[in-house]
Amino acid sequence: MCLFCKIAAKQIPAKVVFEDADLIAFHDINPGAPTHILVIPKQHLESLNEAAPEHAALLANLLLATRRAAESAGIAQTGYRVVANTGAQAGQSVFHLHFHVLGGRAMAWPPG
Ligand code: AMP
Ligand code: ZN
Repeated sequence: MCLFCKIAAKQIPAKVVFEDADLIAFHDINPGAPTHILVIPKQHLESLNEAAPEHAALLANLLLATRRAAESAGIAQTGYRVVANTGAQAGQSVFHLHFHVLGGRAMAWPPG
């Protein structure tokens, strides 16, 4: 079982923000911004590269959950960034699909 599957299964503790039957939002253990929440599906998908039309509803719910995470952290109005690093070159280190929700400070563009 991968690291994030273990978090979804509660075998590894995490600071959970909210969850439902299909997804879970929790604080990143090594935050890159004052707010840094990860939103993951409970189902194991390696990355966006494994996403297929059958996952359309799940993907929509994950995106809506990123907004909910931003709202719960109080950064929805000031601004936040949603990131899905996909593949090693893009910086993906955990190969279970996740969306980063980053905010609480000014963001540079383009990202490094
Ligand atoms: P990525 O590099 O895009 O694959 O993002 C993986 C993220 O998972 C990184 O920001 C890590 O800090 C975070 N992370 C790794 N292990 C844990 C953990 N046990 N709990 C919470 N976040 C974690
Ligand atoms: Zn997994």
